[in-house]
Amino acid sequence: MGLTVLMNAGPWLAVPPPGYGGIENVVATLVPELRKLGVRVLLASVGSSTLAADERLSVFPDGQFENLQRPYNQVCGVAQAHLHGVVRTLRERDDIDLVHDHVEAVGLATLAALGPGAAPVLHTLHWDLGKHPDLYGTLDGGDRVRVNAVSAAQLARAPRALRAHAIGHVHLATPLAVGADRRAPVEVGDYALILGRITPGKGQDTGARLARRANIPLVLAGPVGPYRDPAELAAAGAAARQNPDVRFWYDEVAPHVDGVTVRWIGQVAGAERDGLVARARATLFPLRWEEPGGTAVVESLALGTPVVATRRGCLPELIEHGRTGLLTDDEDELADLVVAAGLVDRAECAREAARRFTPEVMARRYLELYERVRRQPVAV
Ligand code: UDP
Repeated sequence: MGLTVLMNAGPWLAVPPPGYGGIENVVATLVPELRKLGVRVLLASVGSSTLAADERLSVFPDGQFENLQRPYNQVCGVAQAHLHGVVRTLRERDDIDLVHDHVEAVGLATLAALGPGAAPVLHTLHWDLGKHPDLYGTLDGGDRVRVNAVSAAQLARAPRALRAHAIGHVHLATPLAVGADRRAPVEVGDYALILGRITPGKGQDTGARLARRANIPLVLAGPVGPYRDPAELAAAGAAARQNPDVRFWYDEVAPHVDGVTVRWIGQVAGAERDGLVARARATLFPLRWEEPGGTAVVESLALGTPVVATRRGCLPELIEHGRTGLLTDDEDELADLVVAAGLVDRAECAREAARRFTPEVMARRYLELYERVRRQPVAV
């Protein structure tokens, strides 16, 4: 009999997510590949999830994303209600070999406290928790509970209680990497692209300022808080400023956006997004935080576009300086590197993605970790 895994995607968004959704995207990429490899998957999510699975369980009919804006105790209440359903299933059944959990803090603590007889748990870290060294306090669960990160850099910055349970890291993947090395080259435009949520850690202000100074066309693609494009943001009026990303947009980014050299086109999706990435001379990541996993980074490689970035977080693990992109410790150098990115071999970027960042590579690595979690308890 193959392995049966309870995949806990949490109650926040459907899988796959209707728009933005980090964890839910990872689960949507991973589950079909695991099933191809013979794993039975019981998906714990919300009722509106459409991802194919062998079985499903849900407490909420729809994603509870808007509840994430509520006070912390209410956020925990929603997470607990979802977890209650997961725990009930684990108590009722004895055929679950492993729980692969993606729900931060509340989820892991609850699963860890289930006692020695319960199914082992692999918890995947999705965020940079470096600013919260004491989050989780001490974690129960002993050898039953293991933690993996999405990069070595992320693991190194994880809270102590989590690092004590660490079993390794698995880089993110993208379906775009499948056959990336066989895709026909496209005509490359003159613009650089910053793809991602517009938020201080992603450094759109720096990118826009440098692009204006060096006269390099720059496209900013991504939502500002809950607002998908300039029209939605304008319609929201002054009240929108309560959102810190909206304040960042107005105060730090917008002053550099002239609509000619630097443009904000709002959120992009599907073929439009892929075409925009594929035709960019480089994707730019003027990061000001320690990027934990960088989905947009591996997507860029998969579409044959070199990455120019500050050397932070997972970037040095994903990008080889000079071969698949250009990295620097000095953000003022980024504009020069965007120009130099023309020297990077785009076919090599695509080959790297096809070799390292396909869903199959990710699923095989998780399967290895599942086996290790089940068979070889590691001394904590
Ligand atoms: N994304 C998108 N459209 C946008 C902006 C972002 O589809 O306008 C996607 C992007 O392609 C990637 C994800 O959102 O798949 C962002 O993931 P990443 O890990 O790069 O950043 P996060 O926002 O999760 O920190």
